[in-house]
Amino acid sequence: MNLIFLGPPGAGKGTLAARVVEILHIPHISTGAIFRTAIAAQSPLGKKVKAIIDDGKLVDDATTIALVRERLMQTDTHAGYILDGFPRTIAQAEALAEFSAVDKVINFDLPDSAVLERLSGRRVCKNCGLNYHVIFNKPAQDGVCDSCGGQVYTRVDDREEAIAKRLAVYREQTEPLIGFYRDKGLLVDVDASPSVEKVVENFKAVIA
Ligand code: ADP
Ligand code: ADP
Ligand code: ZN
Repeated sequence: MNLIFLGPPGAGKGTLAARVVEILHIPHISTGAIFRTAIAAQSPLGKKVKAIIDDGKLVDDATTIALVRERLMQTDTHAGYILDGFPRTIAQAEALAEFSAVDKVINFDLPDSAVLERLSGRRVCKNCGLNYHVIFNKPAQDGVCDSCGGQVYTRVDDREEAIAKRLAVYREQTEPLIGFYRDKGLLVDVDASPSVEKVVENFKAVIA
């Protein structure tokens, strides 16, 4: 099954994707995670995108589309994939349609207040990328990843200044994708506001 997870930053896309990987055995492809790995490795791609991402803006379409096109050519996507954080613009969605057939677009439905609460409290492991939250999902030891012992930190783009910008970018450039995919009959809404366990159940119900 070829799935897109669509929703504002902090909606819980990455968290649900990690669970769906275990259920459907398809890879989780997060463009944000790919960019963060490139930044950590100081690769040419990482150097090109760091300032843009830290500032809460979008990486250009050509770069992002090329990255996803290449990733979807890998054999592990043959049984399906979860695209998390892509497409984020109409141009990206149109490009994707040229090289892959999407089965369903999962639209994360939750109030703005919950989005802000999740985004501002998010912490991430510097080493393995695992997500935490200061209230909803704390590591056993403060600042230390339960899974790998890595340092748990606040992403630069999760600081207050960048959050406002990212939510504005979402409204302006990404939210139009809801209508785009609804018109194609591919959109399903998932109530993303309850606990992670309940969101997993809601997801299972809409793809059944
Ligand atoms: P979040 O999980 O908060 O939605 P992501 O990890 O998906 O954030 O993305 C982090 C940043 O990486 C974005 O703010 C943007 O700068 C860049 N990025 C990720 N995916 C895309 C994309 N499809 N197009 C352009 N930029 C992207
Ligand atoms: P996205 O990938 O959409 O940007 P994340 O999966 O990174 O969102 O989740 C954002 C924050 O909210 C993280 O700190 C995560 O631990 C927390 N979170 C995710 N899902 C839930 C949920 N159902 N209930 C409470 N907190 C959640
Ligand atoms: Zn870790």
